[in-house]
Amino acid sequence: ATQPYDDGNIFARILRNEIPSSRVYEDEWAVAFHDIAPVAPQHILVIPRGAYVSWDDFTARGSDAEIAGFVRAVGHVAREAGLVAPGYRLLVNIGGDAGQEVPHLHVHIFGGRPLGPMLA
Ligand code: 5GP
Repeated sequence: ATQPYDDGNIFARILRNEIPSSRVYEDEWAVAFHDIAPVAPQHILVIPRGAYVSWDDFTARGSDAEIAGFVRAVGHVAREAGLVAPGYRLLVNIGGDAGQEVPHLHVHIFGGRPLGPMLA
């Protein structure tokens, strides 16, 4: 079972504009902003507006409209960032073994340099 959603998590606070972020995109379903500690020249996080702890929580409870809108937003952000031609990587950490730090679903977009092989 997924943990209950913590309304005080850092990305919930970013969604409410209680703490600043460098937003690159937002729509009805998603908000995208630069990661505060980038590990690639382009490192963007995309989060759903809805209160979902993780990818698991989102795909279990999210509506079809939310899921479609969110997935489409991720693709849009990567295109707008100019990452399609050079290529890019998506990554989602889910839970403890993956090292998920913030309990609000986020998709990482990495790009801007050759990314090398997957770590695991
Ligand atoms: P996770 O390890 O949960 O998949 O990724 C969390 C990511 O959120 C990390 O890459 C971390 O740098 C980023 N992050 C943590 N706190 C903040 C913040 O306050 N603002 C922004 N923009 N990114 C954050």
